[in-house]
Amino acid sequence: MEKASTHSSALAPERAAVIDLEALAANAAALAARISPAELMAVVKADGYGHGAVTAARAAWSAGVRRFGVAHVREGLDLIRGLEEHGIGEGARVLAWLHTPHTDFAAALRAGIELGVNGTEIERVLEAAEATGEVPRLHLKADTGLGRNGALEDAWAGLMERLAELQREGRVRVVGLMTHLAVADEPERPETDLQREAFERAAALAERCGLAGLEKHAANTPAALLRPDLRYDVCRVGLGLYGLSPFPDRPAAEFGLTPAMSLETTLTLVKRAPTGLGVSYGHRFVAESPTHLGLVPLGYADGIPRIAEGARVTVDGREHPVVGRVAMDQFVVDLGPDESALSLQGRTVTVFGAPGSTPVEVWAEAAQTINYEIVTRISQRVDRVVRGALGREAESLPLGRHEAPEAEDMRRLGERLGRALRKGDAVVLSGPLGAGKTTLTQGIARGLGAEGRVISPTFVLSRIHRNDPEGPRPGGPDLVHVDAYRLGPHGDLDSLGLDDTAGESVTVIEWGESVDPAFGERRLRVEIERAGLSANPEREDGGLSFDEDEDEGADVRTVSVTLVRGDGGPGREEGPGRTSTENGTEAGRA
Ligand SMILES: *Cc1c(COP(=O)(O)O)cnc(C)c1O
Repeated sequence: MEKASTHSSALAPERAAVIDLEALAANAAALAARISPAELMAVVKADGYGHGAVTAARAAWSAGVRRFGVAHVREGLDLIRGLEEHGIGEGARVLAWLHTPHTDFAAALRAGIELGVNGTEIERVLEAAEATGEVPRLHLKADTGLGRNGALEDAWAGLMERLAELQREGRVRVVGLMTHLAVADEPERPETDLQREAFERAAALAERCGLAGLEKHAANTPAALLRPDLRYDVCRVGLGLYGLSPFPDRPAAEFGLTPAMSLETTLTLVKRAPTGLGVSYGHRFVAESPTHLGLVPLGYADGIPRIAEGARVTVDGREHPVVGRVAMDQFVVDLGPDESALSLQGRTVTVFGAPGSTPVEVWAEAAQTINYEIVTRISQRVDRVVRGALGREAESLPLGRHEAPEAEDMRRLGERLGRALRKGDAVVLSGPLGAGKTTLTQGIARGLGAEGRVISPTFVLSRIHRNDPEGPRPGGPDLVHVDAYRLGPHGDLDSLGLDDTAGESVTVIEWGESVDPAFGERRLRVEIERAGLSANPEREDGGLSFDEDEDEGADVRTVSVTLVRGDGGPGREEGPGRTSTENGTEAGRA
């Protein structure tokens, strides 16, 4: 019986770690509330435990988190750039705590990354400070009993005195004292109390050495959840942010946390297996009676542990066991003797994650490891597909004045705008010839995930760019790109039939300063000024070639984004932009 993969939608990626942004944001909010007044540092090392560091940080940011922890400086640099690309991250504090002899401290200091130090790297940090003119912000790492990368107790006094002296000389700023716990996930063990006592000794010694007002941080996820006495000023939380529990006997739901990664693919083949059929390398499974086997196109190259025989997957709400060895690219599940199994070919199979499917802990147990390792090791061969939307800061309109020295800055601003625009919005763009209006619109298209190349609409007056279902905003609005120049000073937009599309699209109108679109749930005015050009020139070229070479000229453009109708939501931003209505909410409406 041959059955096509009728159940896989065109949108479904072949093999994906589906990341739930809303779950991440909700986890961050739940953790922040739980540990308050301690501050949450979202630990996004190892590419956000496999979820995507920027994805995780964006979600945490939307929940109000402003501090991020990574192991390596390199991870911190990538994170900062990634957040910038999303138009967020200003004022974020990033701490990196694991260094090598080749760590680029100068880059760290230039990016404002704070450094955990154990003393061995101080000279190189000072060199970098000299070279950059920056004052390093340091967190002293005390080994209170983990036996890893902090300074041991006998070295504390010397290190603290040295740091205090450097601080008096203005060469460093010591901002924190940190330690890391060895057994916080086993609450009954006594070592955590011993670490706490040692940490208190370190804090007292720091005071005596003249290092006052240090932020103290010791808690990882298990301590943040169960040890209020270890929360101090900041908790460095990784696992909990991803919706997983560090305790084998206490599910994440007990703490109000939801798993954010769901590993999904399709059952690519289902076939009858006769008695005696051996499955996969080594024939570690042989069918003892007729059954049906399903093929899952994920293997150890994708991060599925080779030893995880005995784990399960979920298809249509039912679990099925993994049988035989996990191979490099694929593994096999036993779907049982019932004929109906044949209809499962092409169905979505959830390897682990989504609520209601196999929990990742089943895989961790089968692989004799912990949930941390299973999610973190899902390899880059597997697509990360981000689902859900962030409600607040990350998606709010970039109101106010922005400088755009380069075409790419203009595009990036457009992209931020594109991400925040909603169905029904109208954007009126003005600025002189060569100001960068089309460049900005290209960015808007990118942010909206609109298909096709955006060029000046001169010859056609308006052009529709459909939403790309595989873009960043699947199901989002189309982009209608309009040139109002030819319409003349009292142009009649109605003649373009925009009313038909405006409700379902985002309409961007170039040269639209003199038109007053009746449509637009929200209307934004975007004015671009370019040094050396008047704000409203006569168009000299008859409208034939303008904008084609907009990127020419090195002048800095200033872009003002103003909301003239509607609300600034979902997350209204502070700033110089006018967030309230200017023309009055009703006045401008037809
Ligand atoms: C990874 C890490 C954390 C986060 O631990 P979780 O148990 O995932 O919360 C905190 N601090 C340091 C130093 C780490 O290396």
